[in-house]
Amino acid sequence: MTDTTAKIQIDGVHKFFGELHVLKGVDLHVEQGEVAVLLGPSGSGKSTLLRCVNGLEEFNAGRIRVDGELVGLREVTRRDGSVELHRRTDADIARQRSRIGMVFQRFNLFPHQTALGNVMEAPRKVHRLSRGEAERRARELLERVGLADRAHHYPAQLSGGQQQRVAIARALAMEPELMLFDEPTSALDPELVGEVLSVMKDLAASGMTMVVVTHEVGFAREVADQVVFMDDGLVVEAGAPDQVIGDPRNPRTREFFAKVL
Ligand code: ADP
Ligand code: MG
Repeated sequence: MTDTTAKIQIDGVHKFFGELHVLKGVDLHVEQGEVAVLLGPSGSGKSTLLRCVNGLEEFNAGRIRVDGELVGLREVTRRDGSVELHRRTDADIARQRSRIGMVFQRFNLFPHQTALGNVMEAPRKVHRLSRGEAERRARELLERVGLADRAHHYPAQLSGGQQQRVAIARALAMEPELMLFDEPTSALDPELVGEVLSVMKDLAASGMTMVVVTHEVGFAREVADQVVFMDDGLVVEAGAPDQVIGDPRNPRTREFFAKVL
């Protein structure tokens, strides 16, 4: 079934790494402005799924659409009317990827650039913004993540939480239509987790469409519109946080939350 209103539409996605079947027919729809929080045990395929949405990983079957447009693939209609799927060109995949912001567990900031420099870099290179315009926007974004006073600090002079907030500002500088987060707080000391989640919460409130892989069940409860539980390459259960976390129907979901809560 084609749901043309979904911002992200994942249907029947399979992914193999060699013999290893890591996504086994994943279905997931995320609406415009929705926050979907993905939870599940290590190795269940969460990161791989995000990477497929972002065009960083090819998949073997199924369809992913962002704003109705096929990710990584394009339809080619032959003279006899049949439709074939072809891989998109690298340039086309790069264009699709540029609409999506991604934040990883490791911040991956450029170590030899300041916070400001990190946020200015991609808009300067990709969008060809002037230095002045890129700097003006970068300062606004640093302000938005609470780091206006750290603009001239280098990554090594920032805490992990501050570095991750710079990484979020850097992703936002490309004006993405949606944001993917892969365990953005997992590498942080516990006392730094809150400041990053708080920035993500503000972003959600601003209407950004977000898919967040996290073990922070409190964040899922508070911010998610949809909680998605993955296990062994499949979405086992998805729905409202109160239902999936508070009253899971599937035994595997129940077992998972019984352990983490
Ligand atoms: P999660 O993020 O839920 O922990 P992943 O998507 O990282 O799970 O991994 C799912 C499975 O795919 C795991 O068994 C993992 O070892 C395997 N895997 C992930 N990336 C690769 C890769 N590049 N090559 C081979 N196997 C991989
Ligand atoms: Mg992962």
